Amino acid sequence: MPDKYSAVWVSHSSMGDFIKCPRSYYLHNMYKDPKTGHKVSIVNPHMSLGVAVHEVLEGLADFPADTRMDRDILALYDAGWKKVSGKKGGFTSDEEEAEFKARGKVMLEKVMNDPRFLVNKCIKLPQDKMPCNFYLSEEHNIILNGLVDWIEYLPDTDSLHIIDFKTGKNEEKDGSLQLPIYLLLCDALHKKRKVTKASYWYLESDKLVEKELPDIENARRDVLEIAMKVKEARDVAKRDGFEKTFVCPQGAYNPETKDGGCNNCRPYEFILNSDSLVEFVGVGGFNQDMYILKK
Ligand code: SF4
Repeated sequence: MPDKYSAVWVSHSSMGDFIKCPRSYYLHNMYKDPKTGHKVSIVNPHMSLGVAVHEVLEGLADFPADTRMDRDILALYDAGWKKVSGKKGGFTSDEEEAEFKARGKVMLEKVMNDPRFLVNKCIKLPQDKMPCNFYLSEEHNIILNGLVDWIEYLPDTDSLHIIDFKTGKNEEKDGSLQLPIYLLLCDALHKKRKVTKASYWYLESDKLVEKELPDIENARRDVLEIAMKVKEARDVAKRDGFEKTFVCPQGAYNPETKDGGCNNCRPYEFILNSDSLVEFVGVGGFNQDMYILKK
């Protein structure tokens, strides 16, 4: 029987970090503060906006399709926003917070105006305290986990439509592992029906973009290939040490001169070096120590 606790867990974001850079993967997904034993994370306004809007929209799946849009969506948003308000959401001024909150409100008003498939039947994948997950490879003890934002049920074909809500301005790049991962999660955790459609909903521009579904076997091959590289790197790190394995290809960060690396990892290097450029703002929902980057 494989042991889930010793397995390597991979997700869209952790593999994305790994593809970007090995040290980025280490800092975002493995490093734990020796004093608290917690992972660390930098919070920022864009992330908080995404969390607050996603929470409202994904929460609608708990209600029956025909009365779903009767909810007071803006009141739900106001209530949920409290969790990300202030420094713990990465906001450094009231003006900045008000600007981001207003952006989310406009997105939700557009959804209320034209809820599209949100008024149709949907399904949810089985989940306990952890995000949805399954063994991508029992042989290699690798678990793939993630959350699909919305899964519409398509009665005409008795199949599924997977949707990802986007609160950012940037379009998902071609070659992203997001849809392959969603497809694999649905295939493993909802055996009854196949996924036949996939879309990104860009909430700011209110644009729904249908994407071609990847072939399931190609999706499995591509995701496993990256996941195996992650596992191999972790195995090497266990043997040779994390700092020797997960090195920045642009040169190690120098805390004296603050040179080295790039902006992607630098805020995390500030945390590791107790730099005054970052400020601790609390412990997050996944027990991670949260910091903001001071301006
Ligand atoms: S600092 Fe930049 S280049 Fe270096 S590991 Fe991080 S993301 Fe990669």
